[in-house]
Amino acid sequence: MTERLFYSNPYLREIDATVESVEVEGSKIRLLLDRTLFYPEGGGQPSDRGMIEGDGFRIRVERVYGKDEIWHEGKKLEGRLPEPGESVRLLLNWEWRYENMKNHTGQHILSAVFKELYNAGTTGFQIFESYNKIEVDYPGELDWDTILEVERRANEVVWKGLPVRVNVYEELPADLRHKLRKELSDKVKPPIRVVSIPGVDITPCGGTHVGNTREIGIIKVLNFYRKSRKLWRIEFVCGNRALKRLNEILEDYWSALDGMPNKNPPLVERVRELRGEIEGLEGEIDHLRRELWHWKGCALIDKAEEMGDYNVVALVEKWDMKDAQAFAINFVKENPGAMLLLAGEGYVIFARNEEVDVSMRELLKEVIKELGGKGGGTDNLARGKVEAEPEDVIEVAKDALRRAMGI
Ligand SMILES: [Zn+2]
Repeated sequence: MTERLFYSNPYLREIDATVESVEVEGSKIRLLLDRTLFYPEGGGQPSDRGMIEGDGFRIRVERVYGKDEIWHEGKKLEGRLPEPGESVRLLLNWEWRYENMKNHTGQHILSAVFKELYNAGTTGFQIFESYNKIEVDYPGELDWDTILEVERRANEVVWKGLPVRVNVYEELPADLRHKLRKELSDKVKPPIRVVSIPGVDITPCGGTHVGNTREIGIIKVLNFYRKSRKLWRIEFVCGNRALKRLNEILEDYWSALDGMPNKNPPLVERVRELRGEIEGLEGEIDHLRRELWHWKGCALIDKAEEMGDYNVVALVEKWDMKDAQAFAINFVKENPGAMLLLAGEGYVIFARNEEVDVSMRELLKEVIKELGGKGGGTDNLARGKVEAEPEDVIEVAKDALRRAMGI
């Protein structure tokens, strides 16, 4: 059983301990100690980081886990392997732990306000490097007004500078049990740690917390969204991590604004302006494209081959199929009695003006019969993939047309 000093004093940053067991697996080393100040992962709070030093070795602690026996896993930075029975010095990465304490305590307050205002319980909690998340069973639709009201109340608690107390019970007193924000799970075995902030929150918890709410600094909600039918996910951040995250968002904001033609805030108006400009340009491009199609069509129809009463235009193009089809539809619409045999890279499109009495689908079938390939369509428009050079496809299609028209 490893003595857990992070409970008796969560502000302890350095202690000595005795090695009980050493395990080595590849480049990983694992130490079991008689006591520790490293918090093992659990309850949404990540494990502590830091160093374990001894006479002739240094180990960087990357993961800490376990309940009764707490194991410290990491990499040996220098020196020999430690041996059971020898004394080591434990050095906590205090910045990492202290921010975890602030963010963890901030979560208690945020969850308590959700419970108080909306009777919305918290079902999940996780601390990450740059933010935290909780799952809240808020009934109905959440909106920013509601979120900001919860955030405002939570920060009031932070700035009041209330004490955060931890009491440990072998058996939970009956009058305390019904005051808990969260029902005590049967899985929790004594001693039971109850964390309370006077007038705000009483909850059983096995994490590490700050001693006064003022240390949290600020609670900032970053985002929220529906996670399932019943649950909403709230992303938030506290302490120095809040400042860091808000600075990242600000940097993103200013550099985005700096990239705008008009650099005057607010960004949202500049984005709206740009979107309007893009819509205008898209309209202009569309207009110009139709203009181009018209003139290209005029040039093509001039060189059309007469077949019976109809004009047949052959065209080899590098357009993608979507553009080619749009052109084909426009061309046959503008030119009465015209047919277009268009061959591109990997596709053919046959299109006819509605006055023409030859089926494009049948024409494509004939071509495929001769050259191989696949495709289909309607009497007016057929498209497919034919296994031949574009020029050959067009020649075969013209022959098939002549046959169909009895020429
Ligand atoms: Zn807690």
